[in-house]
Amino acid sequence: MEIYELTTDVLIVGGGLAGTNAAIAAAEKGAKVVVVDKGKIERSGDIGGGVDHFLAYLNTDPEWDTKEAFLRYVEKVGKGTGYSEIIESVYCAELGDAIDRMARIGNPLAQPDGTFYRTRSMGQPGTYWINFNGKRLKPCLGKAVRKLGCKVLDKVMMLSLFTRDGAVVGGIGFHIRSGHFFVIHAKATIVSTGNTNRLYENPRINPFNTWLCPFDTGDGQVMAFRAGAALSNMEYMRMTLLPKGFAAPGFNALTGMGGRFVNTLGEYYMEKKHPMGNRAPRYDVVFYTLEEIRSGRGPIYMDCRHLADQDLVHLKATLGYDKDTLPDYLEQRGEDLRQRPVEITVSEGMQAGPTEVTGSGIKIDRDSAATIPGLYACGDAADHNRCV
Ligand SMILES: Cc1cc2nc3c(=O)[nH]c(=O)nc-3n(C[C@H](O)[C@H](O)[C@H](O)COP(=O)(O)OP(=O)(O)OC[C@H]3O[C@@H](n4cnc5c(N)ncnc54)[C@H](O)[C@@H]3O)c2cc1C
Repeated sequence: MEIYELTTDVLIVGGGLAGTNAAIAAAEKGAKVVVVDKGKIERSGDIGGGVDHFLAYLNTDPEWDTKEAFLRYVEKVGKGTGYSEIIESVYCAELGDAIDRMARIGNPLAQPDGTFYRTRSMGQPGTYWINFNGKRLKPCLGKAVRKLGCKVLDKVMMLSLFTRDGAVVGGIGFHIRSGHFFVIHAKATIVSTGNTNRLYENPRINPFNTWLCPFDTGDGQVMAFRAGAALSNMEYMRMTLLPKGFAAPGFNALTGMGGRFVNTLGEYYMEKKHPMGNRAPRYDVVFYTLEEIRSGRGPIYMDCRHLADQDLVHLKATLGYDKDTLPDYLEQRGEDLRQRPVEITVSEGMQAGPTEVTGSGIKIDRDSAATIPGLYACGDAADHNRCV
């Protein structure tokens, strides 16, 4: 076993979606960057298998497509669990750069004809989801990180951060195959280790995918806490809806396209219970679905039979963008969205941001700085929400 010692300007702990974006931004500004990841950055993290929705307003004509309307939406759906100034800094001030960067690294959000394919779900007042092919987003990000000369330590698990005079000045980790240790001194350390979902086993023991990246076990939050940083919103649990027997969320694309929740009596319950119907915030959909099941009106289904042909064709072509195995699942169960509704169920609870627009984890300010000097956080490890 060897011990390697490195010195850098910026140490990034976790090379998922947030970490690779942070690495690119720092390296483009001329900083010396080291990225450490438990896996290989081209396929690690929640979107290692792909992603298909990007949350954005685009300043087109409708009133809901502005920054002000977007912030109102976040405020409303966040129910007081978010920090407006951070949301403004992460989702709004950085939005243009993030969209440009996607195009620059070779995974643009636009369709081949240059337009954006936009859908609406989860309580949105308008079509804030840009539906795109993010199948190769992580490989593109990984390639860009390496091309910019960042030092990437794949398969290195960070164990702890070290401090001097109360400030974080680096971290220590080991290579999970060779056992070699890495001691990394840094002027700034960014924790981007994702959420804590995989603290738990998958209680459903379902086949196919499991919900979220297996490496996201909350290490970054623990490291930051032990170094003296504050965590917040950690007490929340969240649930989602999934096709029955499939352990990854699979309903957003369907509701975004216009799918309808229906109970076993054939009642479209969300349309009666919530003014936004099937496109209500996720926690309302979960709540009312559980209510249906508990009241004996389950099983519950997602009905897409009424969708226009071109929407069904688009759905079929794009469902595998972020979940490779969802099309296989549907095919192997003999499910045909045109012919019959697909049975869905409520997922296990998970520790995550309290709502789809607010987060939990290392408490940060609008510059992504944690509550102790030298430490920053971004992505799902930080107390604001996701960066896609
Ligand atoms: C299947 C799926 C589909 C999704 N689809 C969408 C979507 O369409 N739109 C959307 O907005 N959001 C979507 N999300 C959510 C979104 O993907 C996440 O919010 C986002 O990826 C979080 O990025 P992150 O960088 O914070 O975490 P991650 O991308 O999960 O990255 C965390 C990284 O940290 C590394 N790591 C963890 N611990 C350590 C350690 N101790 N040492 C070193 N490295 C470590 C992990 O290996 C991992 O690479 C989806 C999530 C899933 C699971």
